[in-house]
Amino acid sequence: MSKRIAGPEIERLIQLLAKVPGLGPRSARRAALHLIKKKEALLIPLGGAMQDAAEKVCICTTCGNVDTSDPCMICTDPRRERATLIVVEDVADLWALERAGSMNVRYHVLGGRLSPLDGIGPDDLNITTLVGRVAEGEIKEIILAVNATVEGQTTAHYITDQLADFNVRITRLAHGVPVGGELDYLDEGTLTAALRARTVL
Ligand SMILES: [Zn+2]
Repeated sequence: MSKRIAGPEIERLIQLLAKVPGLGPRSARRAALHLIKKKEALLIPLGGAMQDAAEKVCICTTCGNVDTSDPCMICTDPRRERATLIVVEDVADLWALERAGSMNVRYHVLGGRLSPLDGIGPDDLNITTLVGRVAEGEIKEIILAVNATVEGQTTAHYITDQLADFNVRITRLAHGVPVGGELDYLDEGTLTAALRARTVL
């Protein structure tokens, strides 16, 4: 047991902060101290923002995204093209693609990937709702933006099988050389994938 350095309210703040991804006990203490020093400018507004978020946050029953309304802002955005749907494993992937801003479409969040070793099967993912959306007939292309891992690719194959009876084009992200990447630093698997996915100049 480490020695306590402050009263229970501050200890609890540190303990909770230490559970945030990217923060360990040491960073949590630094963050807590910073918040306490900036009580008016940071600690009080942050507490309010957290309470508001905790009250309003919900999961979109259409796409599985997190937002403060159901359906979410992306699903209800009339300016988004409705014929294309990007399938992602996690909300973090949706946010990453939105930051890139290269396609103005809607998404479907699976909530994970198939992983028999971890006991995660099709029923644990939002696959039934995906098939339901495709069955409505409006979607013409599904982009499987799953991770380039064994589980991600297994998930992609499973979804492709489930959608085989629908008239929908199924594509996946290219695998290969990252933008700004140097060939010398790439692993063999990435180089092989890049060679296979080569394009005409
Ligand atoms: Zn949604």
